[in-house]
Amino acid sequence: MKLQVQLGVCTDDGHVEQVLEITVLEKDDPWVEPLGLALAEAKQLLHTRQHHLGTQQTSAYVIAHAQCDHCGATLQRQGQHTRTFRTLFGTVTLPSSRLYYCRCQPRTTTTFRPLSALLTEPMAPELLFMETKSDLPEGSCDVT
Ligand SMILES: [Zn+2]
Repeated sequence: MKLQVQLGVCTDDGHVEQVLEITVLEKDDPWVEPLGLALAEAKQLLHTRQHHLGTQQTSAYVIAHAQCDHCGATLQRQGQHTRTFRTLFGTVTLPSSRLYYCRCQPRTTTTFRPLSALLTEPMAPELLFMETKSDLPEGSCDVT
C-alpha cells in the first residue's frame, strides 16, 4: 500500500494553485507494520512539511516587501541566498533574497534582506521556550 502525502497551496478564495509532494509512505504488509506512522516517518513528515510551509511563507513575505515603501517601485534583486532557521520540527533552510533599496530616498546602505525583519532570531519562539523550559528544575513552572 502506498500513501501519498501532499501540501496544497491555496489562494484566499480556496483555489489550489500549487501542490507540493511531502512524502510517499509505503506499507509493504499492513498487518506487520505498526499501525499508523512509525516515529521516523512522523519526524520526516513533519520536517518536510515544515520546510515546504516555511519556504511558502517566507517567499510570500519577500514578495510582499519587494516594493519601495515611498514610491511603490519594484525593488531589484541583488542575489538569492539561504538562511537556516531552527524550529520544533527540525532546522529548515529557507530562500532569502537580497534586494536593492530604491534610489528615491537617500540611504547609507544599498541592499537589504527582507527576511531579516521577519526572522529576527535564529530559532522559532516555541523552540526557544521548550529549550528554556527543559533547563528549569522540575515543578518550577507550576502555578501556586
Ligand atoms: Zn522608491
